[in-house]
Amino acid sequence: MLNTLKGLGVTLRGALRPKVTAEYPKEHLPLDERFMGFPALTWDSARVEPFCTGCMVCVRYCPTQCMTAQMTDNPKFTEGVSHRKKIIESFEINLGRCILCGICVDVCNFDAIEMSHEHERSERLRNANRVDLPTLLEMGKTYQAKVGWKQAKSNAPSPNERETAKAAAKSAKALAGDGPESGDQTGAVDGGDQV
Ligand code: SF4
Ligand code: SF4
Repeated sequence: MLNTLKGLGVTLRGALRPKVTAEYPKEHLPLDERFMGFPALTWDSARVEPFCTGCMVCVRYCPTQCMTAQMTDNPKFTEGVSHRKKIIESFEINLGRCILCGICVDVCNFDAIEMSHEHERSERLRNANRVDLPTLLEMGKTYQAKVGWKQAKSNAPSPNERETAKAAAKSAKALAGDGPESGDQTGAVDGGDQV
């Protein structure tokens, strides 16, 4: 009898204990910021283009060879508004073969790929897990917005920005060059008369 009551007590305690598990997939527990889901390509909103230059480094290092990429000339470089001479033209990852190792993120020199929080994927068709450039960029934008992602280094100046900086430096030098007519620049700033 005593043992029966003890057993009932254990059952009751268990029944009244607060729930610690979620009924997946109906419920989703919050993900840690460092959670590593599928890789995604990041978006450079300052230049309005992907960070990825299609350099292929990640493709070569991927242990499952599930990535392909192709670069092209960047028209924005020719227009002078981007510092990237080359830009990604097409990118594909077969997420069905990705083992979420993060090597692609580690080897990328351009902050162009991140392990996103996207982790739910179940397809019936053999090749349906292949994702293309627009999808990878959408995944990247969602991830960037969610975690408040910031690039590690700021962008190098674009050709136009370099020209503007050069012109500004030149006119500053020319203004400073007005000084010798009146002699010592320090005196000129001080309002001093050189005669
Ligand atoms: S993600 Fe990085 S390493 Fe991969 S192709 Fe783009 S720039 Fe190169
Ligand atoms: S996480 Fe690993 S397996 Fe997946 S694409 Fe990147 S390098 Fe390849």
